[in-house]
Amino acid sequence: MHEKQTGSLPYWQFESWPNGRLHHAVFTRQGGVGYPPFATLNLSVSVPDDKETVYANRRLAYGLLGRDTHTVVHAHLVHGNGVAVVTQADNGTWTQADGLLTNEPGCALTMNFADCVPIFLFDPVQQVIGLGHAGWQGTIKDLPGAMVQQMIATFGSRSGDLLAGIGPCIGVCCYEVDEPVISQVRERFGRVEGLLVGQEGKARPHLDLVRANQLNLEQAGVDHIETSGLCTACRTDLFFSHRAEKGHTGRFGAVMMIPIGE
Ligand SMILES: [Zn+2]
Repeated sequence: MHEKQTGSLPYWQFESWPNGRLHHAVFTRQGGVGYPPFATLNLSVSVPDDKETVYANRRLAYGLLGRDTHTVVHAHLVHGNGVAVVTQADNGTWTQADGLLTNEPGCALTMNFADCVPIFLFDPVQQVIGLGHAGWQGTIKDLPGAMVQQMIATFGSRSGDLLAGIGPCIGVCCYEVDEPVISQVRERFGRVEGLLVGQEGKARPHLDLVRANQLNLEQAGVDHIETSGLCTACRTDLFFSHRAEKGHTGRFGAVMMIPIGE
């Protein structure tokens, strides 16, 4: 990913993606109007930040796509593998799913994050986009695979055509895990090298969520995958991190939209 800036608003984009035919961004915590511990670009009303501040931040962030809080599709995240196909008729609603898909130009998808893994999918052939949220639970339940299967079933996508992006999330450097996470990772992925790092009995293992979701995508037939290389817990200057900030923090946003008339 590389950092871009429009006005005073910084955001990150996947370098290998065709940006003319697709609008996408991962916002940081910078460029907003909020105060600690939500400074400054918190986009979530599910944390105890001032609501008017959050709406002001949403106008700034979604304004990048020419949208506001009522003209984007939000997701009510439930740590599952449910995938919803949406249109602009769903604007302003909170669709209960951890994966959103659309092929409608002008339909803007958004989700909020603080350590969980942002999953971006783009089918440049069928012109379909997908945005997903995978914490450890969504990773084990293979949310990325469920998104790919739904793209194939609904839009006739071919997995080999898809571009995938894995956004900033908590890295293996910072994501110490315990039971029942460890046994469920083993159940889902077997004993894959590098997935759980650290010697048992000494230090508790660390889970590599990026690698796990690369495996999910590869098993679904996707081989064009760009990763961000950014750890939210190491970079609390750039991102909100639930783990590093012990829950007292905001949520940064991700957005995606096929532009109208291109
Ligand atoms: Zn880290």
